[in-house]
Amino acid sequence: MKKFLLSEQEMPTQWYNILPDLPKPLQPPLHPATHEPIGAEDLRPLLPDAIIAQEFSPERWIDIPDEVRDAYRMWRPSPLYRADRLEKALDTPAKIYFKYEAVSPAGSHKPNTAVPQAFYSAREGVRRLTTETGAGQWGSALSFAGGLFGVDVTVYMVRASYDQKPHRRSLMRTWGGEVFASPSTRTAAGRAILAESPDSPGSLGMAISEAVEDALAHDDTKYALGSALNHVVLHQTVIGLEAKRQLEMAGDYPDVVVGCVGGGSNYAGLTYPFLADALTGVRTGTRFVAAEPAACPTLTRGKLTYDYPDTAGLGPLLHMRTLGHGFIPPPIHAGGLRFHGDAPTLCLLHDEGYVEARAYRQSEVFTEAVRFARTEGFVMAPESSHALRGAVEEALAAKEAGEARTILFGFSGHGNFDMGAFDAFLAGRLEDHELPQEQIDAALAALPRVGAPTA
Ligand SMILES: *Cc1c(COP(=O)(O)O)cnc(C)c1O
Repeated sequence: MKKFLLSEQEMPTQWYNILPDLPKPLQPPLHPATHEPIGAEDLRPLLPDAIIAQEFSPERWIDIPDEVRDAYRMWRPSPLYRADRLEKALDTPAKIYFKYEAVSPAGSHKPNTAVPQAFYSAREGVRRLTTETGAGQWGSALSFAGGLFGVDVTVYMVRASYDQKPHRRSLMRTWGGEVFASPSTRTAAGRAILAESPDSPGSLGMAISEAVEDALAHDDTKYALGSALNHVVLHQTVIGLEAKRQLEMAGDYPDVVVGCVGGGSNYAGLTYPFLADALTGVRTGTRFVAAEPAACPTLTRGKLTYDYPDTAGLGPLLHMRTLGHGFIPPPIHAGGLRFHGDAPTLCLLHDEGYVEARAYRQSEVFTEAVRFARTEGFVMAPESSHALRGAVEEALAAKEAGEARTILFGFSGHGNFDMGAFDAFLAGRLEDHELPQEQIDAALAALPRVGAPTA
């Protein structure tokens, strides 16, 4: 295994903003009630000013504050590895590199944005941040980051994960976060759901509704989102910016970049600095592959339209590929990939043909995660294993074609809290969930009708 390390001095000093380089302008977010484009004023009750400015910024490069770089230094720059043992096991002429984000305290890429969000909140006098979490990675990352800057954190955790993943709860509480199972009785959105289905397993969309409602109801409280929005994607570009320099050290440039997609933030973070080269004509010919679960196939089976990010329809309408804000995906182990929509920038790039999407079943991604652990040593999260699966497919295709190919994939987080899922796989008890078209159609039937204002 070869390892490529940057010094602390080589850590990026700016984030890369893809907005000015998009092949066409992004459709603006719309107000959830009026369906009019929203501006900074509309978001002010929800997000810190600095974050709102970044959400709409036309600047290509945005300075990373010194305080944020200081916190990043705990684990950044993160290593880039060449997986030569895996290459050998696959008997492929391809080179496989991976960018390893599991070195952060929370074990994933998520602190890359949790830290600046907590920093800007503290600077603007925000006392508390609310958020949602599915499997717990984002809630952990924000609890950790809030602790660094003295901001309290309240996490609404999807009920199913709250019950199944007690250690993720413990982790959040260890960092000082308070955690509630969602749907909860703390919000009107939660109470409405519980009144109808007292045993609701929850969903990311429901938990977002609760976190947004809580933030809107308190003056000293704002909301933090862990994926999809432009500012989150922006913060994650440290991943790709570092990877680019590390590949330069290796004397390489990827022919294909593969990442997993939940809401699209680690994918965007890894790929956008390379996509910049394609979009500005500096270097063409690189392919970009987005790997998602077959059980939550947003890019491969969703619809490109306006939809809410949350079940109750409190958040701004985003123009994205979506399975419908009421879609509840089957309970796969890759909890971080169970969001019904994706980052609007990623959806646009996919629609314009810059990004190709593939959907994988959980049995095939666990097969690769186990092979990887036995060749390269690292046990990766089920989410990241989707990216690995895509990378392995590329390596085998290169072998089939007898051609050289340089592959880069994103190792977004470790699987140390997912041992129950690995147990199930190793015991042959892991199920692949079919997703009937009727279930998708039913959720899509409830899409908001934009253009026919309801207000
Ligand atoms: C949350 C998470 C993801 C998915 O989120 P994105 O916003 O799509 O990056 C992927 N991998 C890991 C390890 C995660 O924790």
